[in-house]
Amino acid sequence: MQIEVFSYLCILCFSKFKTYPMKALEDRILSDGKCFDGGILKVDNFINHQMDPILMKSMAVEFVRRFASRDITKVLTIEASGIAPAIMVGYLLELPVVFAKKNVPNTMRNMISTSVYSFTKERTYQVFVNKDYLCKGDKVLFIDDFLANGNAAKGIIDLVSQAGAELVGMGFLIEKAFQHGGDALREAGIHVESLAVIESLDNCQIKIRR
Ligand code: 5GP
Repeated sequence: MQIEVFSYLCILCFSKFKTYPMKALEDRILSDGKCFDGGILKVDNFINHQMDPILMKSMAVEFVRRFASRDITKVLTIEASGIAPAIMVGYLLELPVVFAKKNVPNTMRNMISTSVYSFTKERTYQVFVNKDYLCKGDKVLFIDDFLANGNAAKGIIDLVSQAGAELVGMGFLIEKAFQHGGDALREAGIHVESLAVIESLDNCQIKIRR
């Protein structure tokens, strides 16, 4: 593990089991986030299109802290928006990062797949992972940008189960609590961590749960 992250964790060792809101992320959502009809939050300016690597690194450090007590061997995400936070987490933990692909190249053999309903695109798509990169014995931390209805997360649970791997936890940069995907995952006993939780986007006002 990086020395920098190790020192950060040492400073926070007495608070290992507490979760702190990520104020920097919350402030950024309030200043730069844009609300769209249908409960969509656009964070294109620092996460989904233009990316802020400094904030991305702080978010990854926070994930490392929140999952510090867990034994993880692999970081998993879905392309495309999950890749940046996932690779930061994988870099800090010095673990391989795998992303579920939305298209299968002709050369890809030996894969498992599942279908995911996309809330933002309003359609179902397949995601694929090569069995060589997600297999029995893997202890998987899933990282993604948003948790809304939890469909992407359900697809990942299915892929991990097909692979015979173990799901250790799921980390999201932003959870939209009003869509309740997180409730279902937590009720299923999954260790879920979200760095910022949006209470509501009613009337296009961003309301953060503090
Ligand atoms: P879910 O599967 O939990 O319903 O939705 C999660 C996926 O949909 C995420 O991977 C994210 O790409 C996308 N998503 C859901 N809600 C939003 C949103 O408000 N803004 C953006 N930018 N993406 C979202």
